[in-house]
Amino acid sequence: MKDKTKLILAGMIPFIAMFLVLPGVVLAFVINGESLGISTSGFGYQRDFRIRNDFEDASANNNTVEEAMFPGAVGAPLAIWRGANAWNSQNPRAAQNFDFDYQGLSTTSSGNENVVEGGYDSSGCGGSTLAFAELPSRNGWRIRFCEAWQWSDGPGSPAGSQVDIRGVAVHEFGHVLGLGHTTVGGCNSGTCDTRPTMCAMACSNETAARTIETDDQNGLNAIYGSIPSDKPVLTSLGGSTNIGGTLFLEGSAFGTQSFRVKFTTGTSSDFNPSGTVTVTPETTELARLTVPSSAETGNVLIWKHNTPRRLSNYLPITIGPTLSSDCYGQKAGTPTPGTNGSPTFDLLFGPSVTGNQFTEVQATGFQPNKTGFLLVSLTQSTVTWKSNTNLNVGFPLVIPLTVISSDSNGEVNLPFAILDAPDFFGTIFWLQLLIRDDAGVDGFATTEALGVELCDDMIP
Ligand SMILES: [Zn+2]
Repeated sequence: MKDKTKLILAGMIPFIAMFLVLPGVVLAFVINGESLGISTSGFGYQRDFRIRNDFEDASANNNTVEEAMFPGAVGAPLAIWRGANAWNSQNPRAAQNFDFDYQGLSTTSSGNENVVEGGYDSSGCGGSTLAFAELPSRNGWRIRFCEAWQWSDGPGSPAGSQVDIRGVAVHEFGHVLGLGHTTVGGCNSGTCDTRPTMCAMACSNETAARTIETDDQNGLNAIYGSIPSDKPVLTSLGGSTNIGGTLFLEGSAFGTQSFRVKFTTGTSSDFNPSGTVTVTPETTELARLTVPSSAETGNVLIWKHNTPRRLSNYLPITIGPTLSSDCYGQKAGTPTPGTNGSPTFDLLFGPSVTGNQFTEVQATGFQPNKTGFLLVSLTQSTVTWKSNTNLNVGFPLVIPLTVISSDSNGEVNLPFAILDAPDFFGTIFWLQLLIRDDAGVDGFATTEALGVELCDDMIP
C-alpha cells in the first residue's frame, strides 16, 4: 500500500541536533555532529559512495540518457550521483571544501560501506518515511530508499504519485555529511521552489530539492569551511584514458608533495589500493600517471593524503580497454654511449592534445648542441657500424635522413603527431637517433631503437 498523501524525509534516530549560534546571528541550519573525513587513519576516508540499485519500480530506472558529467550512469544511479553532486565544491550553490567520490555500483549494502540502497522495505521504513540516513556517518554510512513509494529517476518532474529520487538523495546526503533538519525558509509554509533542501517535509511531485538553497550552503560551510587555496582543482584530462595508458591531470594547487589519484573501482572498500596511484606532480598544475588496471568509468579525483589533507573536485572519466604496449613504444637494440652515458629514448603524451594522441618523441643524455640524424625504418635490427657504433634500425630507411640537433640540455624533442591514417594502423615504425659526440667511440652516440605502433586508440 503506497501512501501518496504525505511525504516526510526522515533522518534516522539517534539524531543529535545542535543549533549553531554565532554572535549576533542565528543561523538556521542544524548540524548533527557528523562530518565525513578524508584521513588515512581513525575514521578514515568517508567521501566515497556506491549505489545498490534494487529499486523495483520501472519508473525508477527508465531514464537511459547518459550525461557527460556522469559517465556510465543511467536510471537511479544517475539520479543519485547527480544528487551527491549538489553538495560538491564545483557546484555554485555549494562551493565549499567538500566533494563526494562516486565509486560505482554495488551488490551489497553493509551498514558502514557508504552505500545508497534502493528497494529497501524493512526496519526504518514505514509510515511516511521516504528514505533515511543511518547515523553516525563519520565511521561509515548508509542511505536507504523505502520501496513502499513509487520512485522516479527523472530527469523530468515525477508524475502522479511518484517521488523524485534525485531530490530525496540530495536531502539524505545532507544528513550523512552532517546536517539535520532546518526549520527556516518556509519549511512549514513556504513554496517548494525556495525552501531549503534540509526541511523535514518534502513537497510532492516536485524537483526543487535537487538544488540546495542558501541555508543548506551555510550549513555545509559550517562543517567543512570555504574552499582553501591548497585544495587541488582538476580542470581537464589529457593523454590516454585507457588502462595502462598515460593520463595527464591538469588543474591548479596540486602542490609539490606526492598525492593519490583516485579512480572509481566498483568495490565495497573505502578505497581500493589498486584503484589509487601515488603521483608526484610535475608542476603544481600538471601530473602524469599510468591508468591502473582496476580503474572503471566514473570519476577521478586528487586526494592529498598527507597533512593538510585535501580532496579535489572530481572529473568524469571514461576508461578504455587495455592497450597493447606496442602502441606506446617498445625498445630494442643497444645504445652507443657518449659524453653523458647512454642516451634514452621515450614517447611523450599530451597534455595539450585531445584524445589519446602522443605528441613527441624525446631523447635525453646527449652531448649538448650537437647535430645528427633521425633514422626511421619499418624493421629493427642491430648492426655495428664503423668500429663500435650500434645502429638499431633496419635498412632501408622509410623516411630520408632527417637532420636534427641536441639542445643546450643534451635533449632532442621531436613532434610526432599521429594523423588519422587508418592505412597505417598496425604498422610499427622504428626510430633511432644518431648524434655527434666527442666521447663517442666513432664520434657518435646513439639511442636504442624505439618502436611505435600506430593504433586507432591513438586517434581522437
Ligand atoms: Zn531528513
